[in-house]
Amino acid sequence: MNIIELSKLVRSKSSPEKMPVLFLGHGSPMNAIEENEFVKGFRSISETLPKPTSILCISAHWYTKGSFITSMPMPRTIHDFGGFPAELYNVQYPVKGNPELAKETKKLVDKTEIGLDETWGLDHGAWSVIKHLYPKADVPVIQLSIDYSKPPLYHFELARQLSILRKRGVLIIGSGNIIHNLRLVDFYNFNKDNYGFDWAIEAQTIINKLISNGDFLPLFNYESLGEAIRLAIPTPEHFLPLIYTLGLKDINDTITLFNDKLLGGSLSMTCVRIDQKT
Ligand code: ZN
Repeated sequence: MNIIELSKLVRSKSSPEKMPVLFLGHGSPMNAIEENEFVKGFRSISETLPKPTSILCISAHWYTKGSFITSMPMPRTIHDFGGFPAELYNVQYPVKGNPELAKETKKLVDKTEIGLDETWGLDHGAWSVIKHLYPKADVPVIQLSIDYSKPPLYHFELARQLSILRKRGVLIIGSGNIIHNLRLVDFYNFNKDNYGFDWAIEAQTIINKLISNGDFLPLFNYESLGEAIRLAIPTPEHFLPLIYTLGLKDINDTITLFNDKLLGGSLSMTCVRIDQKT
């Protein structure tokens, strides 16, 4: 075997047939400009990913009646938050969109009619984390909105229809926070390492176990899993991106957790990575 054949073989072994899938706990918008262990976690995961052809992001912050997909050639950077330093409002993530991929994705889904959207762009659930994965903004990004009128099982089934995109080199990222109760955040202890209230620790243990075991069914009816879970997920928008990520797991894929820490008592930064089994 000559060196060219050998290098082809090595390449084919190192680049999987299917792209991994991620769920990223995005936390505070300040993660876009701060240096901390979570941001380091995003960067180190990107070093282990095959370079995607494009990214499809399902963010907690695009919550709509009906489903939409961004189809503009250059999505704007949306600063969809209030009360943060000017430095954060100055951040731009000048990445391309991918109108062709948007149209292709629309065709893949027969569960619902997906509208092509020219007005949204990238909200902070997308750009504040993707900028750490691809700081050069050299991978096109599109976003799919979350239909707030639908239950978790619906989103799981919709995600399954996107599965073929993994084989086309598309990195699909759900961006939210599994435990997300902003009303109860203890800002006084926000910088305390891995600080969670008892109910948050309980919820983290229950949910992580279900994810790691591939036992997703109870998560579709998370409200019936007890008081700790009800406090952890007071509203569904930050939880549903996780359901998309889990919906993209094929039976033999592996699941890994990272950045698995609690924050400010009532938030978790837990991230999930799904990989084809090698
Ligand atoms: Zn958020």
